[in-house]
Amino acid sequence: MAAYLRPSLKVAGAAAAGASVAYVGHQYWNTTSFFFSTAHAESLPSDSQAALKKVQWKGFTELKLQSAESVNHNVRRLTFALPDDQSITGLPPITSLLTRHTPEGAWVPVFRPYTPISDNDQAGTVTFMVKKYPNGKGSGKMHSLKPGDTLLFKPLHEFDYKPNQFSAVTLIAGGSGITPLYQLTRAILNNPDDKTKIALVYANNSEEDILLKNEFDELAQKYPGRFTRLYTVSKTTPQNEGLYEKGYVTKELLSKVIPPRSTGGQTKVLVSGPPPMVESVAGAKGGFGWTQGSLGGVLKELGYTKEEVHKF
Ligand SMILES: Cc1cc2nc3c(=O)[nH]c(=O)nc-3n(C[C@H](O)[C@H](O)[C@H](O)COP(=O)(O)OP(=O)(O)OC[C@H]3O[C@@H](n4cnc5c(N)ncnc54)[C@H](O)[C@@H]3O)c2cc1C
Repeated sequence: MAAYLRPSLKVAGAAAAGASVAYVGHQYWNTTSFFFSTAHAESLPSDSQAALKKVQWKGFTELKLQSAESVNHNVRRLTFALPDDQSITGLPPITSLLTRHTPEGAWVPVFRPYTPISDNDQAGTVTFMVKKYPNGKGSGKMHSLKPGDTLLFKPLHEFDYKPNQFSAVTLIAGGSGITPLYQLTRAILNNPDDKTKIALVYANNSEEDILLKNEFDELAQKYPGRFTRLYTVSKTTPQNEGLYEKGYVTKELLSKVIPPRSTGGQTKVLVSGPPPMVESVAGAKGGFGWTQGSLGGVLKELGYTKEEVHKF
């Protein structure tokens, strides 16, 4: 994937707690439907976990960083403690947590969403994978945190998913756009009543940029026939030549994993990544990223309809 500058979510908020926030500038993934909405509660996954309790997400909740580790040259895995060992996030898929902090010497708080990669019923902690951008206000803050430091979080619900709503979903991700799609993959495969088939196409610059690869590979092994994945990288090395698809997400590449249009049943394609990738796969978003925009790109060529595609 060529280097690009992506517009990012920049939200400036009034200083008073709970005061309204105003959207300033562009966004990376869509914030349209979820921006002001607080995620609704999801029923606890099983009786055995009934002792667990959902965090009462009211306004912004302060969480303490428990541990942080580097994943690669610009990505860190950050685990925050929930209020106690019995607490779970209880967030429905697909929901991110909006962070809020005020940089030193600044008047205006910075808001950025990050998507938990831990399951919604994981007791005691919530984990994120965060890619750092040069001079990135949100990612820089996340990467600077040390165990014991705190940050404010508030749920933002992006896409309503109901088990078996679709017979198959195709997930197309680029770079750190993978996190909401990983969240959905886990939610579907962890639910024994959900029979939805999942095909993932994940594009990156290089092999080391592929996030959550071990996790996806394990899921593919555990759920053969339910979950398939395909990685494509722009830069291969002599060592990994032939291990991955090469180049961008093209019609030819998608044709390898996407369900044939003749299979019937309800399908959905979710596209999450940098705007140039979203545009070439599904057409640009509209309204400066606030609306889905019309369907274009490779998916349109493959015969998909606007209703069958969601762009983040
Ligand atoms: C719903 C949602 C969920 C998200 N979940 C995650 C997640 O789980 N993990 C994660 O890492 N991110 C996630 N993001 C992206 C995250 O919210 C921020 O947009 C990202 O961290 C960049 O913000 P920043 O404040 O660090 O950079 P900014 O301060 O906004 O930008 C700093 C500089 O970096 C440049 N820049 C920003 N993005 C890019 C880019 N893609 N390529 C090149 N240059 C760039 C800007 O142009 C600017 O020059 C999510 C976004 C959304 C909308």
